[in-house]
Amino acid sequence: MQHSIGVIGLGVMGRNLALNMASHQEEVAIYNYTRDLTDDLVAHDEGLPLHPYYDIEAFVQSLARPRKIFMMVTAGSAIDSVIESLLPHLETGDIIMDGGNSHFLDTERRFDELQRHGIEYIGVGVSGGEVGARTGPAIMPGGSKEAYDHVAPILTKIAAHVEGDPCCVYIGPKGAGHFVKMVHNGIEYADMQLIAEAYSFLRFRLGLDVTEVADIFAEWNAGELKSYLIEITADILRKTDDETGQPLIDVILDQAGQKGTGKWTSLQAIDNGIASSIITEALFARYLSAVKEERVAASAVLKGPEDLSTLERDAWVERIRQALYMGKVAAYAQGFTQYRTSSELYDWNLRLEEIALIFRGGCIIRADFLNVISEAFKNDANLSNLMLAPFFAEKVQAYQESLRHVVAEGALSGFALPCLSTSLTYYDSYRTANSNANMLQAQRDYFGAHTYARTDREGVFHTDWQ
Ligand code: NDP
Repeated sequence: MQHSIGVIGLGVMGRNLALNMASHQEEVAIYNYTRDLTDDLVAHDEGLPLHPYYDIEAFVQSLARPRKIFMMVTAGSAIDSVIESLLPHLETGDIIMDGGNSHFLDTERRFDELQRHGIEYIGVGVSGGEVGARTGPAIMPGGSKEAYDHVAPILTKIAAHVEGDPCCVYIGPKGAGHFVKMVHNGIEYADMQLIAEAYSFLRFRLGLDVTEVADIFAEWNAGELKSYLIEITADILRKTDDETGQPLIDVILDQAGQKGTGKWTSLQAIDNGIASSIITEALFARYLSAVKEERVAASAVLKGPEDLSTLERDAWVERIRQALYMGKVAAYAQGFTQYRTSSELYDWNLRLEEIALIFRGGCIIRADFLNVISEAFKNDANLSNLMLAPFFAEKVQAYQESLRHVVAEGALSGFALPCLSTSLTYYDSYRTANSNANMLQAQRDYFGAHTYARTDREGVFHTDWQ
């Protein structure tokens, strides 16, 4: 019997995706370049139709044509080496999918190379972590539409479903799927950092007990902030450390790691003139968190304000909720602006309405308000900024006062709120009709004869300033 799909790479994500496919009646061939992971998966195959192979040629030959091979290996050179080992055994029309977090430009290069061999290549963004991979992730495939049509029945089956719709749609050509996943992760960085700031303000500026803060997040999760990240934050705050009996959060070192997708999002935005300040500030917050020793030393030298006033609990809890909501809107506005601008740049024709819809299930940034985001782009596919959609324009105008209070209080009391304050700066900068960039142009012309444009007539002008 020929198997319907093959999975290469049986680490955390690969093994769970293979189980997910098999539990949807796919006959799945599995292969890992080292033997142990294959044996381990076979030993825990839940009675599902997984077929182990220890030789790549036999693995490839076991697949029905056109062969569909899903790679879930470490991003980078491992992908190239797996492709190289597959290539001698493949035939025209066979399809390789890369489900890892590959850089979209690497995916474009691989797509072009494989086209020359007659092999289809699909860069598949996958979000949802270990549990999502097993039970239904959000899936963002990019490549040729014809190749996608061959794999769509399997990918849509294993994806998360919301209101009956799969969280998997064809994204666009070549690297478009991995690009959408990359910016998704950038948005995720900002969303997580905004939540961390709201948490620390509640706990350390308002002085609330950790369980009280957990209750507040749980309550927020029943309203317009409802999302996976808010939900898990409440859970995290309820967890006690078995060894010390303290809240687990208090024994976790305050140094954040990262694997690069947030950085790639910022770099792509910077390279292409896209103001992605909130996502980038979230990245910088992680970088600053990493220099723990320096921060500890600085805390003994650089003093902030003392004798802080007591804040009235209920009014401030609501202010923080509104500030967080507005920060999230601004962060998603930046992410979706990056999609729109890049779609034009690379000629991808990204459908923002559909991207918002597939983010509603399976992925880490799944949230109720993605329905509203989708609606906004459905009503106006050319919407230049999410904050201008009538629903969000009304919201941010209503909530801006709270964000101003929270950011001002953070500044006055010495609590760093990098993403909340950057969200406010973004809001105020974006709504400024007459900015101070005329001064920059004058300075540039003064010292470098860089010329300037005038407000009252067309043309390029230079002044002899001295
Ligand atoms: P793991 O480290 O658990 O698994 C990596 C897999 O790649 C293993 O099967 C490993 O085999 C294999 N591998 C490593 N190097 C090579 C190589 N040179 N040749 C062949 N195979 C190799 O990682 P994950 O499963 O967590 O992640 C896989 C991909 O999915 C990554 O790109 C990751 O960024 C992405 N991803 C991860 C998510 C997560 O939540 N973990 C979510 C979404 C995407 P062996 O162990 O035998 O070396």
